[in-house]
Amino acid sequence: MDCYNCKKKFFVKRNFLTLFETKKYYICNACRKEHPIKLSFETIPLENYNLYLVSIFQAVYDLNLESYAIEIARIVEYFLKNKPEYFLVFIEKFKLDDLSVELLSFVADCEKKSVLLICCELKK
Ligand SMILES: [Zn+2]
Repeated sequence: MDCYNCKKKFFVKRNFLTLFETKKYYICNACRKEHPIKLSFETIPLENYNLYLVSIFQAVYDLNLESYAIEIARIVEYFLKNKPEYFLVFIEKFKLDDLSVELLSFVADCEKKSVLLICCELKK
């Protein structure tokens, strides 16, 4: 398979049990080790509600996010299923500043819910 990030070819080790598995992988082990998924959580109080910030990566990587498409989809699916009480927003790159917090506070007031924002890369 081809890695979506570094474009190199890689092989997935198979054993007898996974010999006929057709599961696709989009990222090689070297890229996975270099850019690990590490969720971090942060709560920011808004005017009337809260902003729950989930960041998927610890740092801002120069990474093709499509290579982690399966993992990111699973994370978003988990929060969609388990946290229906929040208004969910998914953004690939989010910059936390006064304007964005004010905008999310407005969204929370309109939806009358706290906002759960999932982002891949968080800039402060
Ligand atoms: Zn790679």
